[in-house]
Amino acid sequence: MKNSLLKLSAIILVLFIFTGNAQAQKRGSAKTPKYVFLFIGDGMSQAHISLTEAYLSTQDGVIGNQQFSFTKFPITGLVSTFSANSYITCSSAAGTAIATGTKTNNGMLGIDPQGNNLSSFTYKLKEKGYKIGIMSSVSIDHATPGAFFASSKSRSSYYDIAIQLPKSGFDFFGGGGFVNPDGEDKMQPNIFSLIEKGGYKVAKGVDEMKKVNSKDKVVLVQKDGKGSDLPYAIDREADDLTLKEIVSSAIKHLYNDKGFFIMAEGGKIDWAAHSNDGKTAILEVLDLADAVNVAYQFYLEHPDETLILVTADHDTGGISAGSQKGYVLNLKALDEQKRSMTVDKENQDKYEEMNEKAFVGWTTYSHTGVAVPIYAIGAGSNNFSGRMDNTEISRRIFKSLKLEF
Ligand SMILES: [Zn+2]
Repeated sequence: MKNSLLKLSAIILVLFIFTGNAQAQKRGSAKTPKYVFLFIGDGMSQAHISLTEAYLSTQDGVIGNQQFSFTKFPITGLVSTFSANSYITCSSAAGTAIATGTKTNNGMLGIDPQGNNLSSFTYKLKEKGYKIGIMSSVSIDHATPGAFFASSKSRSSYYDIAIQLPKSGFDFFGGGGFVNPDGEDKMQPNIFSLIEKGGYKVAKGVDEMKKVNSKDKVVLVQKDGKGSDLPYAIDREADDLTLKEIVSSAIKHLYNDKGFFIMAEGGKIDWAAHSNDGKTAILEVLDLADAVNVAYQFYLEHPDETLILVTADHDTGGISAGSQKGYVLNLKALDEQKRSMTVDKENQDKYEEMNEKAFVGWTTYSHTGVAVPIYAIGAGSNNFSGRMDNTEISRRIFKSLKLEF
């Protein structure tokens, strides 16, 4: 009797603590943030996320959906992704919709379908005194990061996008590098010299980043010879730059009393899904989660002043947890894969077979038109529940900041 009374009071105490926490979180969610993080998993639909949760449970030898990092956030919503001229968007049209609140045609970046320049909301935030950081695990001139600082008739005009970086006046850029640093014809002024002429410091690797003065505007990229995008997490070597390190450097560099806005893209979930490479895609989702965890640590230190959003621009691959016939998912079949399909091309057939044995399904090598999730925590997060269009994300961020869009 005494024992069961003790048990009962312990249960009541635990319940009390949990509801107390939930209430505190709810109260906090209505506050005005100073520090805003927008993470975009390129190509990451809820299917990629569910599959990643199943992968984590499989590692533990159980059936389940083991939540991780941002999938534990208290607020969730659903975002429609269609572009102005197609049900199925590309990254530049989706990035433009998120960054400017206006839909455009596939292939266009930061311009409307009629060709008029649009302005990313980051410029408005800069005017209001927020420090701005734009970063990605792919090149800085790629569609998603590009949408937050540039306008171009074509997302493929990488050099045209890159040269708009120093003109932005934003405080921090990070990523693999640039696709065409000397122009599409390799005859143009080198992008790094233009960036330095524009008053920026260039840091190649985290060691150089540590030497940058906190007052300087900075572009953090990989060391020379590493290419323009970061390697896949599955292919990573010890001294490779990571998105987590970039986000961590950005927070240190941008932290100030007036606030900051950080957009960080996990750009290669999309690339792995274009290759229908299940394991590589799952590890890219977890790699984005590692970067989100750095922001989450910051949130724990500034819970009433921080808003973290994690969303996607569209689905890639039409990936599914389950395929062919039967109610089976066997992710253990992916255990032996140690390299991405792109790097280990010789064994591509073997990896395709592994995906089949794992019952990881794919419907396309391109994008699909399904809605993507948005996860939110912190001050202002209550504005991100329910259904929304991708053009509303920016408006809801401004509503959270109590600013006119
Ligand atoms: Zn894509």
